[in-house]
Amino acid sequence: MGQFLPKPNTEKHGAHGAGNGLRFGLSSMQGWRVTMEDAHTAVVGLPGGRADWSFFAVYDGHAGSRVADYCAGHMLDHILSSLGGSGGGSVKDDIRSGFLKIDVHMRGLPEMQQGPDLQLEGPGPQEGPQGPSSNRRQQEADRSGCTAVGVLLSPDHLYFINCGDSRAVLYRDGRVSFSTVDHKPYDAGEMERIRNAGGHIMNGRVNGGLAVSRALGDYEYKGVEGKGPTEQPVSPEPEVREWKRASGEGDEFVVLACDGVWDVMNNEELGAFVRSRLQLWSDLETVCNAVVDTCLHKGSKDNMSVVLVCFPGAPKVSKEAQRKEKELEEFLETRVGV
Ligand code: MN
Repeated sequence: MGQFLPKPNTEKHGAHGAGNGLRFGLSSMQGWRVTMEDAHTAVVGLPGGRADWSFFAVYDGHAGSRVADYCAGHMLDHILSSLGGSGGGSVKDDIRSGFLKIDVHMRGLPEMQQGPDLQLEGPGPQEGPQGPSSNRRQQEADRSGCTAVGVLLSPDHLYFINCGDSRAVLYRDGRVSFSTVDHKPYDAGEMERIRNAGGHIMNGRVNGGLAVSRALGDYEYKGVEGKGPTEQPVSPEPEVREWKRASGEGDEFVVLACDGVWDVMNNEELGAFVRSRLQLWSDLETVCNAVVDTCLHKGSKDNMSVVLVCFPGAPKVSKEAQRKEKELEEFLETRVGV
């Protein structure tokens, strides 16, 4: 954290696809940061009799990328195994169980007992004469964590999932219809949990260190004796909101993005930006590339990731919009000169 490159790495990693009546695109860029710690998942058609379901997520890692990468690879499996359970719980409860299970599971992984890949971090742990060996192992354990934001889509419902300060926004009927709420340490409910667990908030951070109050991993904030997993200073519990999908063409699109995007664009601005680009280009990866390029130009210093999921009601390419854009480009070229 806090380390920047002399110039940004502007290489973009993207993808796009379609299925289940959806189209999606995604793009990510390392930007000014020394490392890329974001990860993402996009799956259209889920196993286990859920071929008409889909899942998208963005994971924003910190203090390394190990937890973010693991979640990108395995979170969906943990949610699906919960969904398959015979408990008869709601989908919302099953998503929550999936989060709690993966957080316990990751803690026990051998690679989590090892330090992160450290080429880019500062000097290693101090070798004090006083530390017992278990203490040293503790210091060397992976300290990474990640936020998670996602949307699980069934034929009838949207399940918005949030843990941390990445954000999902639903655009419906031409406006922002729903947005997840970021989990910050200074929010009243979060503060109460942190304090009840013996933690404190300093400079807006949990124990003066972590800027989010919910995350996967971050086990050094999850060791308070006598407190359950969702009562720790940092909790892996997601907030899950269930929405009935709009009939007809009401639902336009969903954007999932990390704070590297939201730091420089608010929900309305990003919606307007995406809406205008959807009228120019049919390829959603191109639209997402434009989002991260624009965020970099607007001054984002963080890794940037965006996933765009379009419903049949999304704005369509318009000859008129393309003509106006071309006119504007030609105008600007004459202004800049040869
Ligand atoms: Mn970030």
